Amino acid sequence: MDQCRTVQTKLTFQMTTFLETYRKGQSPEQTHFCPGCGHGNMLRFVDEAICKFGVEDKAVWVSPVGCGGLTDSYLSISHILAAHGRASAVATAFKRLHPDAIVIVSQGDGDLASIGLLEAIHAANRGENLTVFFMNNANFAMTGGQMAPTTLVGQKTSTSPEGRRISEHGEPIRMCELLNTLEGPAFIARVAIGSERQILDAQRTICKAIENQIQGKGYSFVEILSPCPSNWHCTPEEARDRTANEMTAVFPLGVFRDVSKEAILGERLRPVPYDPAMVSVPYEALAKPMHLPENAPFCLDGLTSICCAGFGGQGVLTLGKIMARLALASHLEVTWIPSYGPEMRGGTANCFVRMDRHSISSPVVEVPDVVIALNQPALDVFGSRVAQTGIVLYDSDSAQPKNAQKHQIGIPAISLANACESPRSANLVLLGAWLKWMSANTEAVRQVLEERLAPNQMAAVWAGMDAF
Ligand code: SF4
Repeated sequence: MDQCRTVQTKLTFQMTTFLETYRKGQSPEQTHFCPGCGHGNMLRFVDEAICKFGVEDKAVWVSPVGCGGLTDSYLSISHILAAHGRASAVATAFKRLHPDAIVIVSQGDGDLASIGLLEAIHAANRGENLTVFFMNNANFAMTGGQMAPTTLVGQKTSTSPEGRRISEHGEPIRMCELLNTLEGPAFIARVAIGSERQILDAQRTICKAIENQIQGKGYSFVEILSPCPSNWHCTPEEARDRTANEMTAVFPLGVFRDVSKEAILGERLRPVPYDPAMVSVPYEALAKPMHLPENAPFCLDGLTSICCAGFGGQGVLTLGKIMARLALASHLEVTWIPSYGPEMRGGTANCFVRMDRHSISSPVVEVPDVVIALNQPALDVFGSRVAQTGIVLYDSDSAQPKNAQKHQIGIPAISLANACESPRSANLVLLGAWLKWMSANTEAVRQVLEERLAPNQMAAVWAGMDAF
């Protein structure tokens, strides 16, 4: 950020969204960026534009993994940290749900042009009303200077120690030129944190790209050629020169597209249509009917989140799938996501099931209403995460709670499964206990499960119901 202080520009504002220090206890001058990095300039220019347009309260910064990922430590605006490469997709979802927000996406070259190329291209092609800043420093910077799609021919990186070769690695990808083949984008430009002249142009262009979104013009993309002295193994001055000359020779600067508002609103290019009716539908109206369908195994009046946990090979994932199937048969919305280690058997295995009468916005379960634990580690890890009004069902043959509480109910699942001559059906015994807790319709459960389970497995389900 020192660099941007050295360039006195026309756009100087009293207000700032910059926090006083990057991290508590550090001096205001300290940042996590290396000396001479171009990220600080970009942050400063975005801050200026946000303050100029008075959108501090509406601005949302979406960044993924990378040197630009710690922006929340600098600017006092809202932030979303996306998974590597996924910022354009996350930003799309947020903007569609909150069309008044000013959503700013910042992605590096490894992130946008490699890992997240798909998301980036499709967001551009759809003409999402977003502002995307693409920091191109010709390498994967944060992870140690590996070759990126934008690495220059001949440039040495930690994964191309002999330099990038066209025969082996192809030409550098020019994102502006690539996106300029699409119909969707409204504004495409490339700028550089190189010479002072170039930095001034970068400042104006960044400001314009944010203004475009405020005016609803559609997708704005600004590629920012940025020095990375640490991974280029040179001084900040040399990196600045290299950006101004070598980088711009391969990535020419300029505005590739600037579609006027009238043209965007015309037939050919339109911002993504936003239909207020979509969000004005009352939440309750989206719910599935409350009455229990005749053949429904059970009925719910709210969201239920379930965590099934144990070792691989205990049928943990199958247990979740059976629950999901019963929920579908009950005409409910349902999600199921597994989580397991690389081992086929013996490693940890968990799955999370959500069921509701409404559409389910996320399959992620942080506080389950029900935990079903098939072994001690599962009970130890997930038993404590259950909701206050929830229940923990565990196999008392293989696990015991450290502090027994009334919402923790042990079922001798292995013994009961053995008694049914189905020794691998401890999971089904616990399924039965859960069905009893759900006040399930036994006959409807039978109809759903009988064609999938053998008679001794069905016996394990009934044994679990009786034991609850
Ligand atoms: S590694 Fe490069 S991009 Fe990352 S902070 Fe340092 S100079 Fe900036």
